[in-house]
Amino acid sequence: AVITNHMPTSELQALDAAHHMHPFTHGTGLAGKGVRVITRANGVWLTDSDGNRILDGMAGLWCVNIGYGRKELAQAAARQMEELPFYNTFFQTTHVPAIALSQKLAELAPEGFNHVFFAGSGSEANDTNLRMVRTYWAEKGQPERNIVISRWNAYHGSSVGSGSLGGMKGMHMQGGMPIPDIHHIDQPNWWAEGGDMTPEEFGLERARQLETAIQELGPERVGAFIAEPVQGAGGVIVPPETYWPEIQRIVDKYGILLIADEVICGFGRTGNWFGSQTMNIRPHIMTVAKGLSSGYQPIGGSIICDEVAEVINGVEFNHGYTYSGHPVACAVALENLRILDEEGIVTRVREETAPYLKEKFETLTEHPLVGEAKIVGMMGSIALTPDKASRAAFESEAGTVGFICRERCFANNLVMRHVGDRMIISPPLVISKDEIDILIARAWQSLDECH
Ligand code: PLP
Repeated sequence: AVITNHMPTSELQALDAAHHMHPFTHGTGLAGKGVRVITRANGVWLTDSDGNRILDGMAGLWCVNIGYGRKELAQAAARQMEELPFYNTFFQTTHVPAIALSQKLAELAPEGFNHVFFAGSGSEANDTNLRMVRTYWAEKGQPERNIVISRWNAYHGSSVGSGSLGGMKGMHMQGGMPIPDIHHIDQPNWWAEGGDMTPEEFGLERARQLETAIQELGPERVGAFIAEPVQGAGGVIVPPETYWPEIQRIVDKYGILLIADEVICGFGRTGNWFGSQTMNIRPHIMTVAKGLSSGYQPIGGSIICDEVAEVINGVEFNHGYTYSGHPVACAVALENLRILDEEGIVTRVREETAPYLKEKFETLTEHPLVGEAKIVGMMGSIALTPDKASRAAFESEAGTVGFICRERCFANNLVMRHVGDRMIISPPLVISKDEIDILIARAWQSLDECH
């Protein structure tokens, strides 16, 4: 039988459980539980197979920045598929969509970023970065500088290389991660780990872990530090204001490369084109994906500063993916960037909707269960706690209350995610003020139901 949107939900769920293996999911846990089947979407609204309209507070997976249902992107894909559905960019060939997208990214990126290496995803792009920084140092005559320092609870992807760069211990426990010469320092999560320190003191303490690590490992062996400007999947951890300036000082002092993983923070999420601009940092490489195409096509890449690009361009870099610079993905990304740019969506986030969201989001701290609310641009998190004053954790296993809260949100037709006992949001950048009000009201109601 042909499987369509019109089949009864229970039949779709049974077929899904029988054949489809889901990422980051306990497979047998799904059977009989009934996954929600999403059938269509428009703006910030998802529709499921039972006809419910759900406010997508996560923009898919932090990616549908321009919102769902933009026909221009479908048309760009169709045009490109008819004209040139595929050609590779290996071996002395290129094509117009890859040229145009790399030029546009160079135009949008901070000064001195004029080179792009394409990949099919954020994970692939971070694998590129790992090999690129090691190649860079080898070409500079310092091949022993191959250690990359990252942070616990960072998320840089799911491939063996990018998963090793990431700091998710659950991932490291499976499948041979981390690979050698990756080192992790702690994340700047003041709420959970700041103890008696002020956020400012704690920011410095966490940043100085980088310097300690460099000294212990040997400055001549450390090649790069990788970090998300605002840690996303680790719980939307907005660092204290002292954190990034100190990291920048240390990176500069030891001359190591800084990789800013902009997969979530890029393309308007923090109120600027790049999170590095919001956090006022000067990376050498920026990882991009997700919002680059607003998720309409799978595409990622590394935007590389002139100095690193010059070294890498001086050798044959034995690296690339069949879909590096896929023409259809590039054409769709280009159209997405045109819309973000011409419709002033990033500016509107910065000047109008993000300040409004911040004001409303912070009212959630008046709820008895909510300790802190942290938000930058259109990415935010709240910490759930049984006792605000002591910033206590729940007695139940970490994540239990967060999970219940996420389930209540979903039942109330709002998508929020939980990371342990933090609840996070990252809505499409086109969310309106009225829709923000609905988001906050549903979040509040769901929190009430967690009591
Ligand atoms: N880097 C960051 C900061 C991410 O959040 C993600 C995905 O969530 C990735 C990299 C991996 O990207 P992808 O899932 O496209 O491989």
